[in-house]
Amino acid sequence: MIYAANFKTNHTRQSTREYLGKLQAQLLLKKNPSDKVYIFPPLTALDDYESADFTIGVQNAYPVDNGAFTGEVGLDQLAEFNINTILIGHSERRDILGESQEDVAKKFAFFKEQNFEIIYCIGESLEVREQGLEAVMEHLVSQFEGIDTSYENFVVAYEPIWAIGTGRTASVEEITQTHNALKKVVNKPLLYGGSVKGANIAEISSIKNVDGVLVGGASLKTETFLELVLH
Ligand code: PEP
Repeated sequence: MIYAANFKTNHTRQSTREYLGKLQAQLLLKKNPSDKVYIFPPLTALDDYESADFTIGVQNAYPVDNGAFTGEVGLDQLAEFNINTILIGHSERRDILGESQEDVAKKFAFFKEQNFEIIYCIGESLEVREQGLEAVMEHLVSQFEGIDTSYENFVVAYEPIWAIGTGRTASVEEITQTHNALKKVVNKPLLYGGSVKGANIAEISSIKNVDGVLVGGASLKTETFLELVLH
């Protein structure tokens, strides 16, 4: 299983260091060696964390080495922290920050060229979900436009937007159907994201074709994230 923690705009450098210290102590003792743990802190919390037990990635970056892109961070800045893992296409970046599929695809192509591990997020709105699986799949497949889905360092995260941060998780049936259909389109590790927490991790992780979880809210405290990783 893959367990990925997306801190979003939460935590500072100091609280991230404390978090990772506690996480490391527990993972060293108890983690299943075949599980992979990723932490995506805010950019300002990047530091010289080194661990064989977890990987630090970034939630976003601009697809350039460096240059005149006020407020953005490029490859040179990431290299200083040995970052080679990135989240691309999160619904908050698409819907709140206005990233188009074209922007997302450009970012993907750039970081693929750098051989980054890419966790690529897709997901549908409630309006689309209410139209049924066929409409959902049509929407999800459109989010692969311009994306090389055969890229080897590619992990997909299916995150229904209506289940993100809402406390409302997709049903086992919805996850099963969607993941089965997605696996036929992209045969890559496939994470589920959307209000994953201690109370539902056992059920979600036992679904066929769920290879891991991407977690927002329940990843913010070491204790609640460890509940998932060590369940
Ligand atoms: C996310 O934003 O990737 C996410 C899954 O958030 P939450 O777990 O809070 O629903």
